[in-house]
Amino acid sequence: MEEQIWAVRPDWPKVTGGVNCRGQHDPADSRSGLNISYHVGDDPQRVAANRERVLTSMAAEGWPVVCAEQVHGNHVAIVRRVDFESLRPCPAGLCCLQTDGLVTQEARLVLNLTFADCVPILLYCPQPLTVGLLHAGWRSTAAQIARTGIQVMCSLGARASDVEAIIGPAICAQCYEVGAEVIAAVAHLPGAAQLLASGPANRVDLPELNRLTLLDCGLREEAIEKSELCTLCGEVPFFSYRASGPDRGLQGAFIAITKH
Ligand SMILES: [Zn+2]
Repeated sequence: MEEQIWAVRPDWPKVTGGVNCRGQHDPADSRSGLNISYHVGDDPQRVAANRERVLTSMAAEGWPVVCAEQVHGNHVAIVRRVDFESLRPCPAGLCCLQTDGLVTQEARLVLNLTFADCVPILLYCPQPLTVGLLHAGWRSTAAQIARTGIQVMCSLGARASDVEAIIGPAICAQCYEVGAEVIAAVAHLPGAAQLLASGPANRVDLPELNRLTLLDCGLREEAIEKSELCTLCGEVPFFSYRASGPDRGLQGAFIAITKH
C-alpha cells in the first residue's frame, strides 16, 4: 500500500498543495517520518528526500520554494519572483524573515510553512487567482494573522467573500491546556468570550478561534473547511510539540498555483 503523505489536500482549481502527515515512522525517533524541516537537527539528506517526495506528489518538482522564518507574529508577505533577491537563501529554497504568512499570485512557485501543533491555514481566491498560507500558534492567533492574511489578499484584488480557507490539522481544544496569559491574549478575539465560556477551563480551541476570525473578516461559513484531525490525540500521526517537546520533526503546509 502506498504510504500516506497528505492529511489534507485542497481541491481548488489550478492549485496544488496540502498539509502532510508524519506517515510511517519509528516511534523511538522523534524526527523520523515525513519531517520537512532542516532546522530541527534531522539528517539533511533525509529531509531533502522527504521534501522531494512531497513536491513530487504535488507535481511541483523543481519549482522555487519560499518559506518563512516563523516568529509567531502576524506579518504576511507577498511573494513575487521580482523580490527573490531580498529573500534569504535557505536549504529549502528562499526564506522570508520575520514572517508567519505568505501570499502569492504567481504560478509554479511553492509556498511552504512548517508546523507541530500550531494551526496551518490555507487560503484561496479564484479571481484574481491568489493563494496563501498562514502559521497560527496562539500568539499569531491573538494577533489575528488570519485577518492580516485576508487583508493582504484583498490588497491584491481579492474579495473576502470570494476567499476560501482550509484550517488544517492542529492541536485540539481537549489537548491544549494553557496558562492564564494565553486565555487573556485571545479573549478579545471575535466570538472568543462565548467560546471560552462554553469549553473546559484552561483550554483554548485555536482552530475555532481562527475560523471565527475568518468569518468576522467576511468569509462565508461554507467557504471555510476545518480539519477535525488533532496533531496530538488523533489516529493520523503528526509531529507534535506537546507530545515530543522541541526535539522533533515538523510537518509542512504547501500551496502553489499550477497555472493561470
Ligand atoms: Zn487532541
